[in-house]
Amino acid sequence: MPKSAYCKDCREPIRWATTQAGKVIALGASPDPKGTYTLVKRLVLDEREPFIYRERMVAVAVSQKDAVELQVHGELLWLAHTAVCTARRPRQHVPEGVLRRLEQRRQAVKDRNDRRTRR
Ligand SMILES: [Zn+2]
Repeated sequence: MPKSAYCKDCREPIRWATTQAGKVIALGASPDPKGTYTLVKRLVLDEREPFIYRERMVAVAVSQKDAVELQVHGELLWLAHTAVCTARRPRQHVPEGVLRRLEQRRQAVKDRNDRRTRR
């Protein structure tokens, strides 16, 4: 994964990071005061070479309260590029908390259905 790149949809510069869950995420190329991620340098196990640690920039999601605190201490915040990608259809901004609850509800319904079909 290259350190800097361009969005394949809107050609805006982006930067790649890894989430704490180990997923790859595209962030804006420059910090954003409205950002919801902070970047932390972490040593993580290499995916291909066993017992080898590599330094990776890990995107850690921060709460709004923590975001204020971090910025007071001079930390930079980053926005997920998908939140600002101009190639995507303009849509209403849905706060992350709402998306998370939606996903939890979707999962709950799915679990219930799975349990039902198992009987
Ligand atoms: Zn884009």
